[in-house]
Amino acid sequence: MDHFDNLTTERPTFVTHLECSATGKQYEPDRLYGLSDAGKPLLVKYDLDGISAALDKPTLAARPPDMWRYREFLPVRAAEHIVSLGEAITPLIHLSNEEARLGARSIIVKDESRLPTASFKARGLGMAVTMANELGVRRVAMPTNGNAGAALAAYGSRAGMEVYVFCPADTPEVNVREIALLGARVWRVNGLINDCGKIVGAGKEEMGWFDFSTLKEPYRIEGKKTMGLELAEQMQWDLPDVIFYPTGGGTGIIGMWKAFNELEAMGWITHKPRLVAVQAEGCAPIVKAYDEGKDHADLWEDAATVAAGIRVPAAIGDFLILEAVRESGGFALAVPDSEIEQAQAVAAARDGVMMSPEGAATLAGYERALEAGLVDRDERALLFNCGHGLKYPMPPADEALDHTRPIDFAALAVAAHPSDL
Ligand SMILES: *Cc1c(COP(=O)(O)O)cnc(C)c1O
Repeated sequence: MDHFDNLTTERPTFVTHLECSATGKQYEPDRLYGLSDAGKPLLVKYDLDGISAALDKPTLAARPPDMWRYREFLPVRAAEHIVSLGEAITPLIHLSNEEARLGARSIIVKDESRLPTASFKARGLGMAVTMANELGVRRVAMPTNGNAGAALAAYGSRAGMEVYVFCPADTPEVNVREIALLGARVWRVNGLINDCGKIVGAGKEEMGWFDFSTLKEPYRIEGKKTMGLELAEQMQWDLPDVIFYPTGGGTGIIGMWKAFNELEAMGWITHKPRLVAVQAEGCAPIVKAYDEGKDHADLWEDAATVAAGIRVPAAIGDFLILEAVRESGGFALAVPDSEIEQAQAVAAARDGVMMSPEGAATLAGYERALEAGLVDRDERALLFNCGHGLKYPMPPADEALDHTRPIDFAALAVAAHPSDL
């Protein structure tokens, strides 16, 4: 097996058409699209029988370990158009100490921080840029809370595109500089992500931008779908009982649900997990709509949370997120920043897993769901750590020692430690 096989071997593709997620209206494949005529996200449709006939599990298992092993499930036609930075299969890690503490059977983290640009945005943007590359796009723009912009900058620059990125002024500093270093033009905007989105919308005609806003082009979901395909394959096609997902724009939850439905239709899995959309109390439009039994979410005013990646006051795919959550038998739940920070500290100091605040929100959400009886200790739970904790401000660690003076060693052991939680 050549390490680069997935990137160099031509494999059959099975896209039949695209479909408006609201009206079902069909669109020709292999074209560049924004939203549907109805102003809703487009979904890519496949000949699933064709995939079944062309591919089986052992063939898949023999391929190199990256997201392009799922080529038959993806829209790109020619291998030469793939833009890749090494999208590794991300590991599953038991939070063993948390399992023991909570008396839970299985709490597994899927650690997406191992992907290029240290977040799962690499999957979606790797795919979206690949399709834009195949379809001849040269100039792209997006609003971002940080990680999507970094991934777009990396893949877009690699593909030789001109990349314009707009982020809220209080986006984590590392993200803004990362985006700039990765070759994009980046601006800090005195507003939230939806305000940044308006700038892209307003400038796109004059600037000739292709709009990469979340769900405003159809191929990013297909990249995020690989999370679901990969998880299923990693777990020997026996998915966990419940998945906790930090929900912002919702690409991941929508993509995973699409993956599970495609695999089920092909007979590759027989059981689908419940999906839990976790949001922060300071920005929880999906949770509010879920609680109120609504199909669409209202704009969330004055959104604020330490979990920047899920600070999304309005999501264009809100109805698709709610549909996935409800169809799966799952639920939506919000956690306060204090519990997010606590969960982050616990996972890091006890289990050695460096979660982003968004990832930590899923652990906080899991604990809340346990307490509320929404999940059982015997159920196999899976949490998404969507980004690397190192990309965010961390709690201070300021204890100092003067090496020129006698050291009180006994005092070192009683100094404050983050595991005193
Ligand atoms: C984008 C992002 C999210 C939200 O993901 P969606 O799939 O858009 O809902 C969560 N966490 C992090 C770290 C992110 O960058």
